[in-house]
Amino acid sequence: MNQKIFQKAMQTISMRRIKAKTENEQHYQEINDKIPEIAEINYQLAQTSTRILMGEDIEILKRQNLQAQRYCAQLLVNHGYPADYLDIHYTCEKCQDTGYSEGGYCSCLEKLIASLGTMEMTQQTQLKLCNFNQFNLEYYKGKITDDGINCYASMSNILQRCRQYAANFHPHASSLLFFGDVGVGKTHLSLSIVTEVLKQGYEVIYDSIGNLISRIEHEHFSREKSEEDTLQLLLNTDFLVLDDLGTEFQTQFNLSVVYTIINTRINRNLPTIISTNLNWQQLNEQYQERIMSRLFAVYESIEFRGPDVRLIKKRNAGSQYL
Ligand SMILES: [Zn+2]
Repeated sequence: MNQKIFQKAMQTISMRRIKAKTENEQHYQEINDKIPEIAEINYQLAQTSTRILMGEDIEILKRQNLQAQRYCAQLLVNHGYPADYLDIHYTCEKCQDTGYSEGGYCSCLEKLIASLGTMEMTQQTQLKLCNFNQFNLEYYKGKITDDGINCYASMSNILQRCRQYAANFHPHASSLLFFGDVGVGKTHLSLSIVTEVLKQGYEVIYDSIGNLISRIEHEHFSREKSEEDTLQLLLNTDFLVLDDLGTEFQTQFNLSVVYTIINTRINRNLPTIISTNLNWQQLNEQYQERIMSRLFAVYESIEFRGPDVRLIKKRNAGSQYL
């Protein structure tokens, strides 16, 4: 097993545990503040082990505690809280977010490893090909778009912006939206940023929106209850790069996944790069206003204009054999 992936998975699980415990502590503080009666009961409950040591009857204490807990739950409900508001809610109840259960690795850990493994593989294969130095501006020289944009000048600016973004990357860096036709360099530059950010030690997830949604869909709808949670990974990762927005099937489920990813990461102030072959108008037609308004308000949009570099490369490669 890849040690790096194992550690990453364990890290994710321990983050879940810390989150569950912190949330629980916050709930306690909140309730102690608002419902002093519960604070008093909790204080009494906390004394149980001392009272056992002092020789009190365990059975009687158990019964009293159970009663006290039921009473607390009732009080919570009376105050408009869920009855289990003071319980710890783990992502995986089986191992309580430790990664171990029944003397071995918990299934949540195994699934996380498998999932990180696939992502790592996709990343590594594509990353070998992409860094800023290999980005060739020559393809854009002398090219003018129909509406008179100098492709070379505009791509030079974009390249510089991307280099700067990667060099100054931080956990709350801004989010970018890459527009442009197929083959104008969006993928190359987003992967070059990914390469730099990975070097800085951040956790990065890069994939096409279609691939990621298929996995989320599978986890969501498969009959076997899945603790693997691609969506959670996407919502939490330090840096997310989504390729090809607009190529996924336009179902209600997919739209809500796209919205959740965009919205949650904005709320958490986490950097994301989204690239799309659609233009602003096509995006507007395809996505609901609630998605577009968030993109528009928060993402820095960068429009790639240029000749289809893949086509030129192919042509050049072909000409050697002519
Ligand atoms: Zn587990």
